[in-house]
Amino acid sequence: MNIDLHYYGTFLAARIAGFEKEEAIVIAHSAQYVDESNISMVDSKLKELLGRAPQPTVMANDEYTKYYLNPIEDWSDSQLHEIQSAWMNFHFLPGNLENEIPYQGVTSYDGWFSDWKLDAEQLKQFKLICNTNSTTVQAIINDTSYNKSEPNLHMIGLRMHVLADTWSHKYHIGTPAWYINDAGNSVKEFFNGEWLDLNFNVLKSSTLPHILDDNPETRDYFALPPMATYEGIVYLGHGRMGHLPDYPYLHYKYSPQWVSNNKGSNSEIEKDNPKEYMLGFTQMVYALKCIRNNTPFEVNKYAELEANVKEKIQNVINLRKVDQSDDWNNLIGELYGEKIVPFNKDEWHGKFSASPTAEDKKKTDYYLFNEAALNHRDCIEKFLNSKGFSLK
Ligand SMILES: [Zn+2]
Ligand SMILES: [Zn+2]
Repeated sequence: MNIDLHYYGTFLAARIAGFEKEEAIVIAHSAQYVDESNISMVDSKLKELLGRAPQPTVMANDEYTKYYLNPIEDWSDSQLHEIQSAWMNFHFLPGNLENEIPYQGVTSYDGWFSDWKLDAEQLKQFKLICNTNSTTVQAIINDTSYNKSEPNLHMIGLRMHVLADTWSHKYHIGTPAWYINDAGNSVKEFFNGEWLDLNFNVLKSSTLPHILDDNPETRDYFALPPMATYEGIVYLGHGRMGHLPDYPYLHYKYSPQWVSNNKGSNSEIEKDNPKEYMLGFTQMVYALKCIRNNTPFEVNKYAELEANVKEKIQNVINLRKVDQSDDWNNLIGELYGEKIVPFNKDEWHGKFSASPTAEDKKKTDYYLFNEAALNHRDCIEKFLNSKGFSLK
């Protein structure tokens, strides 16, 4: 998901769940900050204050430009560790541990440069694909506490990012894997009652790795081009789908290798984002209520919203716009009397830098977010280990 849902949508969900305005702002800012806190945002003073190396929650495009220019056949453990720590823990939460989604795809493939064969390690890795309503999402929400004296708002916001992303990133994995993340031969959109081919443009190497602007009106979308190695960087997350999974209004289908039994042409995955995003929003409200009231969170449960509020939210989600931020903020203004200030990614770090002493710095949103990021990562590692899995 993008800033419209992560910042404005999360603020609205927190207000509906009963959080005060000031609390909801911190929760929403944290949720969006997960998409900002790459290595360049991590202050060198943090390591000493935290007592250990900080954990970036995302990677910036320019961090892997080198991997487009010199494709890697065999990643080193430390390279994969860097990728998986950011992408799997914070954006593509592993959620198929019990094999809820069985592997139904190709077992071998004759490629352009080399052949591919499914092995036991890849089958096990398939259980780390992102999915909604997983035991992992249940574990992290139930690990999130709230009380008035120590509200833990940064962790709450961070985890709302992770929960929300399970609805957009379902079926993808946060590591480079062609057999899971490739888009397949065609991507279609359900529009005005029929399935239409998208104008799905592959980027030229000169523009990599930046994705160009998509256009919902002409239905022009951009994605990363295929690479000649099965673990190429374009096969990380949804690079090969461009931004499609993150658009709330899009109802689309595609043919990844993991459901295809004949070179990517037989089976399809359908993703109805307007419906799924509404479920994601109501699950977020439910999760926030559980956290706020200290009651257990269970999967497949959703908050009941007032019918007119739900309809207004669905109308925003349905808008064919790549960024619905203004529409969410207008709705916030309509429901709560005033809009919220637009997100400013440098605000938190600015206040941290301006704080004179270590004690002051440790009270800042910036420090508390980074502390939450480490604790969140450790929580997932412990949970996965208890189930017989580990990230690199
Ligand atoms: Zn994300
Ligand atoms: Zn995404």
